Amino acid sequence: MTAPYRRRVGAVRPSHLMFTSGVGALIDLPNFSVLVRGLDDWNYGGVPDWEPIAEPRLLAAVRALAGRGVTQLRPPPWVEGVDRDPAGPPARVGVPVMPFPAWLRCTACNELAPIDSQAFGFDNDKPRRPHDARFFHENCPRKKKGRKPLAVAARFLLACTAGHLDDFPYVPFVHRGGPCPKATFPRLRMDDRGGNLGANVEIQCLNCGARRNIREVFGRRSADKLPQCRGRHPHLGTFEPGGCTSDTTRVLVLGASNQWFAQTLSALAVPRTGASQLQTLVEQHWGALEGMPNAESLPYARGAVPALRGFQRWSDAEIWAAIQHHRTAPEHHDGDGYPDLRTPEWEIFSAGQLPDPTPDFALRRDPAGVPSQLKAFFADVIQAERLREVRALIGFTRLDAPDPDDPDLVTRVALSRSTPTWVPASEVHGEGIFLRVPEELLTAWQARVEPSAVLRAHREAYARFRQDRYSDRIDGPFDPMRLWPGARYIALHTLSHLLIRAISLECGYNCASLSERIYAGSTDDPHAGILISTAVPDAEGTLGGLVTMAEPEHLVRLTRRALVDARRCSSDPLCAERIPRDPDTSLHGAACHVCLFVSETTCERGNRFLDRRLVVPIGDDPSLALFPDLP
Ligand SMILES: [Zn+2]
Ligand SMILES: [Zn+2]
Ligand SMILES: [Zn+2]
Ligand SMILES: [Zn+2]
Ligand SMILES: [Zn+2]
Repeated sequence: MTAPYRRRVGAVRPSHLMFTSGVGALIDLPNFSVLVRGLDDWNYGGVPDWEPIAEPRLLAAVRALAGRGVTQLRPPPWVEGVDRDPAGPPARVGVPVMPFPAWLRCTACNELAPIDSQAFGFDNDKPRRPHDARFFHENCPRKKKGRKPLAVAARFLLACTAGHLDDFPYVPFVHRGGPCPKATFPRLRMDDRGGNLGANVEIQCLNCGARRNIREVFGRRSADKLPQCRGRHPHLGTFEPGGCTSDTTRVLVLGASNQWFAQTLSALAVPRTGASQLQTLVEQHWGALEGMPNAESLPYARGAVPALRGFQRWSDAEIWAAIQHHRTAPEHHDGDGYPDLRTPEWEIFSAGQLPDPTPDFALRRDPAGVPSQLKAFFADVIQAERLREVRALIGFTRLDAPDPDDPDLVTRVALSRSTPTWVPASEVHGEGIFLRVPEELLTAWQARVEPSAVLRAHREAYARFRQDRYSDRIDGPFDPMRLWPGARYIALHTLSHLLIRAISLECGYNCASLSERIYAGSTDDPHAGILISTAVPDAEGTLGGLVTMAEPEHLVRLTRRALVDARRCSSDPLCAERIPRDPDTSLHGAACHVCLFVSETTCERGNRFLDRRLVVPIGDDPSLALFPDLP
């Protein structure tokens, strides 16, 4: 990371730029805090041989959401060698950041002033120790011998649900909206009064003596005491023209987890086969095919147009159908949810014939089939020996996390001032286990479970949750059940968490290094798979450890352990009896931190849509369990 001083101020892992500290996010450094600047300020000039990340399927999905101007997925700017030569050229390459918030407090005398007020100086003269970079109070009255006292970020900010972020307006705040009667640039102090009643911090004007406690404007109900949001996007250096109309301004404390939520898309690099291979060819040669008037002109075109030589494998009728498909299915996005990146992956995993291995994708199916003890549980077990997952950042939100299904529900903040031509991306090479649950089993189970009171409670909780959070954001009719993931999803998702927890106990992996992809499909096109894979980018893989877990003797033990553990939780009976009930808007049944939750980076749905009773028999209705018995 580089600050405006063109010096490194710290280091974060490339993957963190996707998940926890990408464009627009605040990063806490040891002595101050910085904000990652927008893409307009990223510079690849000093990176000699970077290459865009190739993943056409993901790129198409990114274009559907972030705009057709996007033509590249880029790794963050990074050059090898900073550690060997900390003052050399590599140190000048990095993700640009700026100090933010722009108000500092002296740790000795509590003076509170903006960075540009000249009250403070900046030290960053030890290239080998970027973490020593610090601001200090220049003429501190409390200065003792030795170094000038450290000045740290003043820890309050303003944010709104439209994604704006601003400095806290200390001067108007302490003067209750007006100017200081004694000075144009009054000197302020910030005193932490301590205690455990939340924020108890007093701002004092040293010129006129005015005092006011931050406590007064804390919490959701205090928006009316705060000034109207100025519509500021500090990462872009812009203010919304005409200001911000949101009345959701809130005080944020530095370090709060809701200051930034990544909005990302992720795809596995799956080889295109069969029909989709033809579709890919048609897309590639669209220039030659676009003007084709009808199927009858294809035989002639095949002979005359060299570009069409690659189409030998397909009949005229097949090619014509693919042309028509491309014509009627333009790249634009219908706005209803995220682009479907999962179906092509499911199609490959669930196909009878596995694709030929590529450097990015290699699957293996035990010729002996599913172990006999597990036939009632899994219809298929696949070892994914090589996987490559690419993740792209398309934007971010503040205060509310992006809706996992609807990209437009929570305001997405842009990554750049102009329409982006690229977005940051990261790739992970890993391995995984794919498990398919028998369709007959799921269908029969769904028929039992759909009419149950438990499932009704889940559906009602979903409607309440959406009503509470989103109903006021939608123009036109509001459908509270839109994109309801369904009973099948809850069962597969719960099973995934159980297996992840069992794997991490068995192999000593940290849960957070695993990730899940649930393939549940839709009512019209039901899928029934789970992929559990290693998920830590730029860390050493698990070197076959996870794939080994799919071998018969391990898998039987693992499944058994997962299902045994699922039958009790040390929070039972409280946990086992839990049903989402009005006015509760949480979206899980029998599930808690002790038995089912996993880390944020592991779970694709924020630990929602989980319920042990839908997988194993607990409580008074064992018929709800997908797996009533143990292997
Ligand atoms: Zn001071
Ligand atoms: Zn004053
Ligand atoms: Zn705003
Ligand atoms: Zn529990
Ligand atoms: Zn999950």
